[in-house]
Amino acid sequence: MSGHITTVAGVAVDTRHWIGGRRTASAGTFSDVSPIDGAPLGEVARGTPADATAAVAAAKEAFPGWAATPRAERARILRAIADGVDKRVEELAVVETTDNGALLRSHRRGVMPRVAHNFRFFADHLLSLGHEDFTTHAGGGAHENHVSWDPAGPCVLITPWNAPLLLATWKVAPALAAGNTVVLKPAEWSPLTASLLADIAAGAGLPPGVLNVVQGYGAEIGDTLTADPDVRRISFTGSVRTGRRVAASAAAHLTPLSLELGGKSPLLVFADADLDLAADLAVEQYDNAGQVCLAATRILVEEAVAEEFTRRLTEKAARLRQGDPRDEGTDIGPTIHPRQLARIDGLVRRALVSGARAVIGGHRHAERYYAPTLLTGVAQDSEIVQEEIFGPVLTLQTFTGATGAQAEAEAVRLANDTRFGLAATLVTGDPERARRVTAQLVAGTVWVNCFYVRDLRAPFGGSRHSGVGREGGTWSFDFYCDLKTTVTGPKGWQDHG
Ligand code: NAD
Repeated sequence: MSGHITTVAGVAVDTRHWIGGRRTASAGTFSDVSPIDGAPLGEVARGTPADATAAVAAAKEAFPGWAATPRAERARILRAIADGVDKRVEELAVVETTDNGALLRSHRRGVMPRVAHNFRFFADHLLSLGHEDFTTHAGGGAHENHVSWDPAGPCVLITPWNAPLLLATWKVAPALAAGNTVVLKPAEWSPLTASLLADIAAGAGLPPGVLNVVQGYGAEIGDTLTADPDVRRISFTGSVRTGRRVAASAAAHLTPLSLELGGKSPLLVFADADLDLAADLAVEQYDNAGQVCLAATRILVEEAVAEEFTRRLTEKAARLRQGDPRDEGTDIGPTIHPRQLARIDGLVRRALVSGARAVIGGHRHAERYYAPTLLTGVAQDSEIVQEEIFGPVLTLQTFTGATGAQAEAEAVRLANDTRFGLAATLVTGDPERARRVTAQLVAGTVWVNCFYVRDLRAPFGGSRHSGVGREGGTWSFDFYCDLKTTVTGPKGWQDHG
């Protein structure tokens, strides 16, 4: 490490802010540490409210120029950013893994290519975004109604640590495509790849001030960012608790916001399911050590097949290898932070004291890891079933009924009985049942006999405490743009709507 540059796995990362096209230091720094082994990774600029205000001011200054940039030119620069990501996939993957502990092979083969795709996808989508035109024959002649998507202004984008660059670019790409400027605030537990993104964007020709990155603790600069009167959109991904605070802060200026929050999603396994597939999907929920908002952590299995399903699940889980996420053979890496590990441990211990049984796991695994865990004997109203854990911990409950219809109704009742509504996965061999059950589930995304795969054109988001709003495809442009209707025609008025 030298000055403001730290070297992580051979990659140089500038740990200062990126504001108005310049690297800016703060008076203070905070220590970034790898979750893999606790190794120090560097001292990162500890943003102050003044830094946050300066970043918004830079975004405000750059806005008119970027908003006026023709769509084709914006799309060209977004594609150049995608090319820049492609060239640095290996570096981005290794830095992200070192910083947040998720599997290197996933970052290398899945996540970073998807980061590049986020930019290409929204570049393409921008160019295909039409103008809606309607003609009204009322009010004394023909009136042309023209709908346009106008850039909204500076956007504050706040992201969590569990999928740092993937989630950041899911917001940055559509915000920039729409003609907005951006202040990105990455999570303090995984700040590094946001800094590399700033380098890549600058190298791709993005003008100064269009993308700004401000580092630091959310508790110290979050309110300044979200209450700034010059901010026109806030997109936040993180916990329900912080989301509530962001919403309250944004209310000061009625700043439109999108909240992507926590989850406690169910995995419903019906007696007619392919049990091997169901067990495979259940084991997938241990991915990223369970630190996935969408994870279907509440398994609801029909009583008749519960024993056999549990046997297959435990067999498959026993084959998972936990260890260093940089090793090709590792399936489950560390937990992000000792504080998070202590929280997981506390939740599981309290469940065990209340009568739950650990079929597998139920304890820490070495200093920084939590063993993949499956708990049975859990009550629907218990903390372990109702609260998001964000660790490799699944609960298993059974459902039954005198008839198939009653069993279905019971499964749906249990599935919907939390304050969340982010996603649901169901495994059944009966397409009619899949349709009936899906229609009744409260969830932003429902997977039938599969998990996680999603077309970026489809809307993404959660219901209830899992979030507010939807992003993805056209929905992203609806959020990041000011929709305007322009009416042209002879003077006149109509007496309806
Ligand atoms: P968090 O809420 O603690 O932090 C998220 C971000 O908010 C961080 O960048 C943090 O610095 C910032 N922040 C903290 N206080 C703030 C404030 N007062 N104002 C503005 N920003 C502030 O969440 P986390 O622990 O980093 O992430 C885990 C959570 O994120 C889980 O609940 C998970 O379900 C959720 N998540 C949701 C999705 C989704 O798409 N729905 C995706 C990933 C993670």
